[in-house]
Amino acid sequence: MKKVAILGSTGSIGRNALQVINKLSHCFQVVGLAAGYNVQLLLKQVEAFRPKIVSLKEKEGAEKFKSQCPDSSVRVVYGEGGAEEVASFGKSEIVVSAITGINGLKPTLAALRTGKKVALANKESMVVAGPLLEKLAGQTGAKIVPVDSEHSGIFQCLAKEKKDNVKRVILTASGGPFFQISLEEMKKKTLEEALAHPRWKMGEKVTIDSATMMNKGLELIEARWLFGLEPYQLEILIHPQSVVHSMVELKDGSILAQLSPTDMKIPIQFALTYPEREEAPLPSLDLSQVRTLEFYEVDTAKFPLLLLARQALIEGESLPIALNAANEVVVKAFLEKRIKFVEIAPLVTQIFTAHQKENIGCLEDVFEVDRRVRSLAWKILKQRN
Ligand code: MG
Repeated sequence: MKKVAILGSTGSIGRNALQVINKLSHCFQVVGLAAGYNVQLLLKQVEAFRPKIVSLKEKEGAEKFKSQCPDSSVRVVYGEGGAEEVASFGKSEIVVSAITGINGLKPTLAALRTGKKVALANKESMVVAGPLLEKLAGQTGAKIVPVDSEHSGIFQCLAKEKKDNVKRVILTASGGPFFQISLEEMKKKTLEEALAHPRWKMGEKVTIDSATMMNKGLELIEARWLFGLEPYQLEILIHPQSVVHSMVELKDGSILAQLSPTDMKIPIQFALTYPEREEAPLPSLDLSQVRTLEFYEVDTAKFPLLLLARQALIEGESLPIALNAANEVVVKAFLEKRIKFVEIAPLVTQIFTAHQKENIGCLEDVFEVDRRVRSLAWKILKQRN
């Protein structure tokens, strides 16, 4: 029995991870859950999985939880420190890191510091602090296994390959809900339309990032650090069927691909069971039903944020941090209906280009750049209103 803590347990990845664990209850036991604001769902999760420690985003939530939880032996903590406590909780061996955005960084670091296996769904922490995370994992013996479907695919393709054999890595992208329409039509799209992803059921932030394709830009940077690749080795292809999750071309011309049904439970289960595998209670992928696998180049005139992501990927240092901060603030404003879909890319571009590249030496530098770019982003948003 492996003991598991889940950071972001009430979010999309967290709920899927609990479904996987429920089916594999002979392999895994939940010992910690960190949630955001959803007290009612956390109460249900605690009743079903009986963890030893839980965390909520705020003190009010923690107090509400305590007053309603019949099991007084559950330790209840809150805030950023609370999520870190769940991450480093002594009894857990695996931590699923699935808090969205840079908010997931400190808890992820806390898990890595204790040398646990981290099933990493929080791509933003790899984007803003990839080299620091990899260095820390190297020091403590922590193992990072990606949950992001593309990266899980690359991880599986690379499992038996020497890094020197890798020529290039291709991340596939569904293209999001607006792949088929013209730039002019895309300009009219609403929040509801942007949230209606054709293939994947995911959290709101990553769904909007998929509609702008910033998600794929962040994933390029994530892949760079996860697999120690050079920027020129990383490419994107649109693949609307979302059956091939990524491909690795080797120096002799062979291309390895990972295919599976479009269900996040598959990469989540792989990250949990790795290096072993377990049966998954899902129907097999029937390629005779899929019939066609299509691949297209990305139209960067329609998805200009990919150009910024490519720049941040190549230049590194503070640029990925600035790009992520600008995007997080602007997407939040869009989710709150303060701006239109068509304004996301120009606003992110304005904020990103106002930032001057700085060297990043330590974590404090990461948080400092993040804080500064966020305050600039809010200022630009306010001026616009
Ligand atoms: Mg992905």
